[in-house]
Amino acid sequence: MKTRTLLDGFNIEQFQLDLIGWFEKEQRDLPWRKDNDPYKVWVSEVMLQQTKVDTVIPYFHKFIEQFPTLEALAEADEEEVLKAWEGLGYYSRVRNLHAAVKEVKEQYGGKIPDNPEQFSKLKGVGPYTTGAVLSIAYGIPEPAVDGNVMRVLSRIFLVWEDIAKTGTRKLFEAIIRQIISRENPSYFNQALMELGALICTPRNPACLLCPVQAHCRALQEGVQTELPVKTKKTSVKQVAIAAAVLKDEHGKVLIHKRDSDGLLANLWEFPNCEVAHSRENPERQLEKFLKEEYGAIVQLEKPFAVLEHVFSHLVWNITVYDGKLVNGFTETEQLKLVDEREISLYAFPASHQRIWREYKEKETGG
Ligand code: SF4
Repeated sequence: MKTRTLLDGFNIEQFQLDLIGWFEKEQRDLPWRKDNDPYKVWVSEVMLQQTKVDTVIPYFHKFIEQFPTLEALAEADEEEVLKAWEGLGYYSRVRNLHAAVKEVKEQYGGKIPDNPEQFSKLKGVGPYTTGAVLSIAYGIPEPAVDGNVMRVLSRIFLVWEDIAKTGTRKLFEAIIRQIISRENPSYFNQALMELGALICTPRNPACLLCPVQAHCRALQEGVQTELPVKTKKTSVKQVAIAAAVLKDEHGKVLIHKRDSDGLLANLWEFPNCEVAHSRENPERQLEKFLKEEYGAIVQLEKPFAVLEHVFSHLVWNITVYDGKLVNGFTETEQLKLVDEREISLYAFPASHQRIWREYKEKETGG
């Protein structure tokens, strides 16, 4: 579909006035909107990917308090950074951010580049983050197309293409390049996102309250709830996992650091393995795994929790056992025996934080 055809008869100037005028009055008071410090805008944009605003706010405050400047973050240990992110999920976001700020410090003297080409080459920075950070922090008219914006634009311009396809995102970027306000690209982009979050919501868009209803073709045709078109994701994979909270004779707990790449890289966890449905029971499979992989002889008791943890592409069904380490054990960089009080110093993914909570509840009879 050609952008020019889509823009035929579209009143760009009036659209900008209606959209930005609404945002000036109605925008939510969010902590990262207090100033346009590029570093803070960047942190907030990374946190907001795949995470809701209400969840992000306390994390944002804590993170900025701990790492108030780009230099502070660049100089921090990865362990500390992961700990500050603990519970937010999608940890590759923060690992990439950490690597990228180091690069900014080394290559650009600590100043976040305002050039889209340079900025978009940094680790983990895609077209959306480039557009969001550069428009909000530097007033550069770059498109920032996320799911919210695609929904709003597919309704306004009556776009029936599948938004799961890369080509459709490019189409929206091309539209925005034509209609973005040159005077205030920051408010333009933020207003589109805010409209998607507050008014033009997925199921029941509040068209009667919409500041751009006069421009909306889906509303004119009464098809707003049929848009956007999005193909379903392929089904998520179910993975059965057996995990154990294992203590030695001094009451120390065994924890394991995940590999430095792949899912939840470098986070700590309780020892666990994937179990197959068919063969021995999960308990036996876990005992065997611990012996073969870690040289640990263990005695497992009955499971005390069964947890489900949902990722975007897979589901972990975790059965958690209580157990004792019965042989002497040599610690390594990736396997540690820690005092219970030290557990909170290590960054665990949400699923393993839950394991620990369940374990403590069981211990205290809660
Ligand atoms: S009129 Fe309705 S469908 Fe159109 S942009 Fe506004 S809220 Fe969305």
